[in-house]
Amino acid sequence: MKRRADTPHEAAFRAEARAWLAANAKRKTGVNDWSDGPRVHTVAAEDEYWARMKAWQRTRFDGGWAAITWPKEFGGRGASPVEAILFAEEVAAFDVSSGFIDAAVGLIGPALIRFGTPEQRARYLKPMLRGDEIWCQLFSEPEAGSDLAAVRTRGVVDGDDLVLNGQKVWTTSAQYADWGFIVCRTNPDVPKHDGITFAMVDMRQPGVEVRPLVTMKGDRHFNEVFFKDVRTPLSNVVNGLGRGWPVTTFVLMNEGASIGTTSHGRLRVAQLVADAVASGRIEEPVVREKLGAGYVEERVLELLQARLKGAILDGRRPDVDGSVLKVFTAESGHRKAELAAWLQGADALLAGHDAPMEGRWQDSLLARGAMTVGGGTVEVHRNGLGERALGLPKEPRLDRDRPFKDLRVSGS
Ligand SMILES: Cc1cc2nc3c(=O)[nH]c(=O)nc-3n(C[C@H](O)[C@H](O)[C@H](O)COP(=O)(O)OP(=O)(O)OC[C@H]3O[C@@H](n4cnc5c(N)ncnc54)[C@H](O)[C@@H]3O)c2cc1C
Repeated sequence: MKRRADTPHEAAFRAEARAWLAANAKRKTGVNDWSDGPRVHTVAAEDEYWARMKAWQRTRFDGGWAAITWPKEFGGRGASPVEAILFAEEVAAFDVSSGFIDAAVGLIGPALIRFGTPEQRARYLKPMLRGDEIWCQLFSEPEAGSDLAAVRTRGVVDGDDLVLNGQKVWTTSAQYADWGFIVCRTNPDVPKHDGITFAMVDMRQPGVEVRPLVTMKGDRHFNEVFFKDVRTPLSNVVNGLGRGWPVTTFVLMNEGASIGTTSHGRLRVAQLVADAVASGRIEEPVVREKLGAGYVEERVLELLQARLKGAILDGRRPDVDGSVLKVFTAESGHRKAELAAWLQGADALLAGHDAPMEGRWQDSLLARGAMTVGGGTVEVHRNGLGERALGLPKEPRLDRDRPFKDLRVSGS
């Protein structure tokens, strides 16, 4: 797909971004880039990775590059989505990452800009953008994931506070978080979507217990979080008591859109082809066939992403549904990792520094759930596509008009 040339304004923006990056960041070498994440999954390595992400987030903020499209008054650059794409293209050549800091900022930041009070924006946006305060997303519960509106963590008003009791799960990076944004049930006597409140809560207070969960990769990506009589002032409620569902769906929409445009970095079929050439396996017809099929999938994904970007660059409404990208990114990424493991043979059983490419393919293979479940499962995205893109009948919903307390939910 041919990309149009930059306009003079875009070319000047790109040159400015490139010059700033050259002065403030190291170029990728393609050997031991730390931005790929820790190569061994110890607590010390993860702590060090977080310290570097925070440092980079601060550098970006101080340079005015932390949020390209946010208004200047909130610490952003006040630039357009096109300029955000240009910066993303330039930064990809440098060994820097804000990792989950950036992801969390991209979820709660726009929600506060859209639904927050002036006081909430003034208090929270800049420290968040600067990486001084780290955030986590407290949505999923043991009985509420795809059906998020079934949350049962209770929020009870007591004086000027909301008092929280309950459990969250799969909370990415909660162990590093200073603040969380939580979805809780403040009114069980009304239908489930109406009794939900969205609030911000201080994670560094008694009553918040964070228990890391170790994944197959061996990292501590996410956590269980327990709340016991945890207080947050009512001034931290976003959009009012019982009016949390529109904020929640706004956050989920942003999350789905960002996941589908994630690139797989250096884990590319070209790398597998180079390895197969080096080992001589490229001579085997079945190897060539599988590499060819993998290359086609990778190109299809790149072209879908380019179509989405192209629409933004041309000021058109994208004609690719975000769910198509999410499903294809997740499933093709996993197939590519399986192909890499098949080519590696017995070496695929190694990990970390002992493994080819320091275990990056192994990590990708073991992260299947992260890709196909995180940010909404592929099944649920397919349901959405069926309804939105194919016009199929909506799933029957029997819980719309009944009070939450009268619903038959698992565990009750
Ligand atoms: C890497 C990762 C990071 C995450 N980070 C966070 C985080 O920071 N904060 C947070 O709150 N959550 C987080 N999550 C949780 C994530 O949002 C949930 O796992 C997800 O929404 C699915 O919910 P569940 O796990 O409860 O599965 P369930 O909803 O119980 O689903 C179980 C199975 O049933 C299927 N299913 C459910 N409903 C339907 C339906 N209507 N039609 C067809 N199939 C259906 C699902 O597709 C799935 O296969 C994270 C998850 C992962 C993997």
